[in-house]
Amino acid sequence: VQSVVVVGASLAGLRTVEALRRRGFTGELILVGNEGYPPYDRPPLSKQVLCGDWEADKTRFRQKQGYDELDLDLRLGCAATRVDTDARLVALDDGTDLNYDRLVIATGATPRRLPNPDGLSGIHVLRGLDDVMALQQELSDAQHVAVVGAGFIGLEVASSCRKLGLAVTAIDPLQLPLSPVLGDEMARELMELHVAQGVRFETGAGVAGFAGERTVQRVELSDGRAVEPDVVVVGIGVTPNVQWLRDSRIELDNGVLCDAHCETSVPGVYAVGDVANFHHATQGKHMRIEHWTHAVEMANAAVEHMIDPAGAAPFAPVPYFWSDQYNVKLQFAGMRSADDEVRVLMRDPEKHRLLAAYHRDGALTAVLAWNRPAQLIQCRRMLGEGAQLSAAVEAFGS
Ligand code: FAD
Ligand code: NAP
Repeated sequence: VQSVVVVGASLAGLRTVEALRRRGFTGELILVGNEGYPPYDRPPLSKQVLCGDWEADKTRFRQKQGYDELDLDLRLGCAATRVDTDARLVALDDGTDLNYDRLVIATGATPRRLPNPDGLSGIHVLRGLDDVMALQQELSDAQHVAVVGAGFIGLEVASSCRKLGLAVTAIDPLQLPLSPVLGDEMARELMELHVAQGVRFETGAGVAGFAGERTVQRVELSDGRAVEPDVVVVGIGVTPNVQWLRDSRIELDNGVLCDAHCETSVPGVYAVGDVANFHHATQGKHMRIEHWTHAVEMANAAVEHMIDPAGAAPFAPVPYFWSDQYNVKLQFAGMRSADDEVRVLMRDPEKHRLLAAYHRDGALTAVLAWNRPAQLIQCRRMLGEGAQLSAAVEAFGS
């Protein structure tokens, strides 16, 4: 392999080029990104940056010297528009064509938006640095923020806005937001944490529309309720960035389809991170996972296969994510199904500590921790070993 082109200069793309150099790849390495900034970390945007604890600059993964060390051709501010897999060529919107021996697709995802036919200002999404800066500017004059979608973005923004002393209303069509991820019982606990911190919930109905004069003043719900915020943050999920691949032979289905080695339907072309719909080697099904640790682990797995196709183990991660809300570090590992039961293993309400095990037919399927990082790591390992619920009970009591 002489040259590798990686498209998408964020977490998964950067970890891919780092892993290639670490594994001894000495050929040409090109990283293409359509944002104007060098790669930066997104999790602090809704947390430390939004509530003013961090300058935006602190989210940079590397300073300039760090890119020189990687001997990387970093092309920022240009988008890949097309790939020709027969000619092994990626076309950029600045007119350049890049030839590759191996191509890595790491183009992530874009927030879904709600219709705003009157073009009202004050309605935001939060994915990148430009988004957080625009939002911060409007929050400086605001008193009341509505988050539409009480998923990860919505609840983290709610937490940061409460820290800033703003009134917050969270709107979600589900009665219990995040229950598809955490189950009803644990989703209720999380909602109660927000209520205790002063967040108002308007759940059980979606948004019918926005109203206002030039700037948003009312969010109208489908059942007639209305909320009157100064600023709205919409966090209703994301769509994978695959438009530029539409005319290629690379198979697409809810992102870029790839196998348990992260390789797509076209040999030599890989997909990693939020954009990749990969085949989980032990679960025996495809899944697209939109979390930080997954993007890192998948980048490493793709590189292993690129460097050593015969020796690389199939990718079979135990999914993991964290979220910081108020003084709670919430961590979740595993794969929970709708009919799993949940058992609380440890609880200390005063310190907001909790460890809960999800299980089915005696097998441990997932674990949720609040401010219990050491136990979570141990449980993630147990999940990887296919442990029973009884093993978790033995290790942690109750
Ligand atoms: P992305 O980070 O989306 O990067 C894709 C890059 O490709 C972008 O720069 C995009 O502009 C670029 N691109 C797209 N199309 C093209 C093109 N045609 N040509 C060139 N470049 C292109 N996860 C957690 O586990 N815990 C957290 O606490 C957490 N907090 C988060 C907070 C926020 C505000 C956000 C937005 C996400 C958070 N996540 C968190 C999720 C995590 O950040 C993502 O899973 C991760 O960023 C995925 O990395 P990625 O490189 O696959 O995709
Ligand atoms: P998300 O986690 O998928 O949550 C979206 C929420 O919006 C869900 O509760 C969803 O309900 C709800 N929703 C969907 N359509 C809606 C509508 N029309 N009106 C109102 N609510 C609606 O997505 P997100 O919060 O927007 O986050 C975006 C991405 O960033 C995701 O990839 C997420 O994983 C990532 N992120 C991760 C973290 C973290 O891991 N800590 C933090 C921030 C962001 P249903 O479930 O019923 O669809």
